[in-house]
Amino acid sequence: MNNKNIRNIAIIAHVDHGKTTLVDELLKQSHVFRENEQVAERVMDSNDIEKERGITILAKNTSVMYDGVKINIVDTPGHADFGGEVERVLKTVDGVLLLVDAFEGTMPQTREVLKKSLALNLKPIVVINKIDRPGSNPAKVVDEVLELFIELDANDEQLDFPVVYTSAKLGIAKLNMNDKDGGMDCLFKTIISTIEAPNCDEDGPTQMLVSNIDYDDYVGRIAVGRLERGSLKPGMTVTVCKKDGKTSNGKVAKVYTHRGLDKVEIAEAKAGDIIEFSGIPDINIGETICDPEHVEKIDFVDIDEPTVTMTFSVNNGPLAGREGEFVTSRHIRDRLFKELERNVSLRVTETAQADSFEVAGRRRTTSISIN
Ligand code: GDP
Repeated sequence: MNNKNIRNIAIIAHVDHGKTTLVDELLKQSHVFRENEQVAERVMDSNDIEKERGITILAKNTSVMYDGVKINIVDTPGHADFGGEVERVLKTVDGVLLLVDAFEGTMPQTREVLKKSLALNLKPIVVINKIDRPGSNPAKVVDEVLELFIELDANDEQLDFPVVYTSAKLGIAKLNMNDKDGGMDCLFKTIISTIEAPNCDEDGPTQMLVSNIDYDDYVGRIAVGRLERGSLKPGMTVTVCKKDGKTSNGKVAKVYTHRGLDKVEIAEAKAGDIIEFSGIPDINIGETICDPEHVEKIDFVDIDEPTVTMTFSVNNGPLAGREGEFVTSRHIRDRLFKELERNVSLRVTETAQADSFEVAGRRRTTSISIN
């Protein structure tokens, strides 16, 4: 795919302002699904822990097609305290959708992510959602957003942000509150015309910064990121540049892109797209994948160090064994080490006691259920 036909955007929203409903609606109206396929409800909150809490904490990718253009939508954590994580995600996109509830207005929790987006020169589009809510005041909320942008040092171009008014719930969008209700078309069109195509060189030597990792029981570690240059194919030999400058060679196994909610295997990925690949077992965030003939490292914002440490040990209290299925230290150990494959901000250390483990992480990212 020619990268002129790609747009990469991140979505920023306070919890419950309608991010999931909006993405569901974009998927429905972009017809990425065959008629007989159902759009799973609550797309972006699919992680169980998140569902339980009703918050979205992991960055995930979805893509929608409109008018021959592939729009990759990257989720951002709705919290302020994930410094490195937010920046990594924002570096893969050229613009952001700031989604604000037309009734509640701007909320302080999205401030940090928005500030980082503006500082990275990303183009914002403001979506005022829930315009159907009785008592909502879209005009006032737009003024609030403008004030917030000024406070956060947005540049003139960013202050000139386009606004799209939506009711994700009713599936409608419009550019002016006085306009007739339409479908999501005006939002798709605004994204395509406002956000630039990724400035990536498709013909250059392969280069990609690993901005996230995923894990799959069958293929192992999966690297996620935007392909900066060239192409990536299964079977290709690549050089991995570690953060300390050391290099090693590895072989790409499977290459994936996103289609709707699905991750699909492809024969070749092209620069500009947000992709995933397997094959390098110890790949990590912040490492650069290069063509072995052109080893050039990309600078990277480091991951925040853990802020909380706690000890996990086997329950040796009087009620031990009465509740729960997995109770031995081997189960705890396996579960913690499995989590390490996915959660880059986690550290697990074995302690002097055989059945205790010291776990360090960053607050909410560290939620682990043992089952
Ligand atoms: P998220 O936390 O930002 O992903 O928010 P959700 O998409 O889960 O929406 C939170 C709640 O707001 C749900 O009950 C939705 O049905 C509701 N909601 C989402 N969009 C709209 C809208 O446009 N109008 C109204 N009235 N409710 C909405």
